[in-house]
This record gives sequence, structure tokens and C-alpha cells, in this order.
Amino acid sequence: MMSADPNCIFCKIVAGQIPSRKAYEDEEILVFHDINPWAPVHLLVIPKIHIISMAHVKPDHHALLGRMMGLMQQLAAEHGCNPYPDGGFRIVSNTGKEGGQEVHHLHFHLMGGPRPWARG
Ligand code: AMP
Ligand code: ZN
Repeated sequence: MMSADPNCIFCKIVAGQIPSRKAYEDEEILVFHDINPWAPVHLLVIPKIHIISMAHVKPDHHALLGRMMGLMQQLAAEHGCNPYPDGGFRIVSNTGKEGGQEVHHLHFHLMGGPRPWARG
């Protein structure tokens, strides 16, 4: 699989060709604030490599996805989600047309903060 798609908006964000409000970055993972937030905290957690969706994940990606999963509780706490159980957060990965996916580069929406939210 190619590691970047020149037509992909999130690959352009990874490459710094489109600006983003970054929340976290390491060699493999980028986290930035959603431009159109549904909730007081709304981050997008993406792999730097261009994986199209959760329907395209291969066994080689499992360790990377595991790291993304493990990172989210820390990101939630650092960005203002209240603690479990009265606070908490919501993780969503829209996959394909019927799954509501608009950007075809795998991402997890990490949402939280006091209700009500704009959506979700
Ligand atoms: P999805 O429908 O799951 O594919 O969600 C794509 C998300 O990407 C939406 O919530 C958009 O608001 C968000 N988004 C699109 N372009 C940008 C951008 N340039 N910077 C930050 N978030 C973006
Ligand atoms: Zn991409």
C-alpha cells in the first residue's frame, strides 16, 4: 500500500501542506482538532500512513492501531474530557459510504466534554 495519497486531505495535513491545529504527534500518529467540532473536545486521531478506512486494516497495522487506541484516554484527559464515569468520551470511526465516511484516510473521532453536544 502506498504510504501517502497526493489527493488525500489528511495526507496533506500530515505533510504540512494544509494547516491543522495539532494536539499530538509522533513518528506514526498525528492528532489534530476537527475543523467542525460536534463536541467541546473533538480530536481526529490518524495514522500518518494512508490507510483508507477500518475496512482496509491489515495485520501489519494492528500494533499501530493498538497504540492509537491506547493513546486516546491520555488525549481525552489532556484536552478537557472529564474523568470516567461521569465524564468520559466517545470514539467513532466512520467507514464507507453507508458508514458516513467523508474523508477516506482512516481516522478516529475522539469526542467529549460536557453535554449537550452539537451532534452525536
Ligand atoms: P468523516 O465523516 O468521519 O470522514 O469525518 C471527517 C472529519 O474531518 C469531519 O468531522 C470534518 O469536520 C473533518 N475535517 C475535514 N477537513 C478538515 C481539516 N482540514 N482540518 C480538520 N478537520 C477536518
Ligand atoms: Zn491519506
